Amino acid sequence: MYSVLSRDIFSGERAVKIGRRNNTTITSLKKKLWKIFSIYIRMRDCLETTGTTTHGKCCTCGRDYPIGKLQAGHFIPGREDSILFDPACVHAQCYRCNVQRSGEWVKYFRFMEKKYNREFIFGLMERSEKKCLITVGWVELTMIYYLEKIEEMEMETVNV
Ligand SMILES: [Zn+2]
Repeated sequence: MYSVLSRDIFSGERAVKIGRRNNTTITSLKKKLWKIFSIYIRMRDCLETTGTTTHGKCCTCGRDYPIGKLQAGHFIPGREDSILFDPACVHAQCYRCNVQRSGEWVKYFRFMEKKYNREFIFGLMERSEKKCLITVGWVELTMIYYLEKIEEMEMETVNV
């Protein structure tokens, strides 16, 4: 342990290695948050389109799928930090539309225009080009926020 650390310092690679270590932490945290966020998005859209949390409609083809077959499809590709976890940018989408048909962006645009409006979409596009760096603290707070939202939706459907 000591020898690795001292070698890093003396070879001048320390900053690089630490940087990489931090990146790994934020990358794995973002992956964890994405899993939680994806559950939130799919539950939200299942509730919105079918009134249940077990199945829902794909935002671009409109087909009804079990929640496990739906994905959280991003409207803007690139996974930029500034819009990655924006719930207005992400909707339940089937594998075919999201992956095989690369997000079906024409249909996705029409869906967004109907749900929000064109001005709102352009605002999201502008934000996607702004530099923003997600921090560990933000990821942790956001995880708690979405876990609570998921719990709320679960309670809501249990009471129905
Ligand atoms: Zn679809």
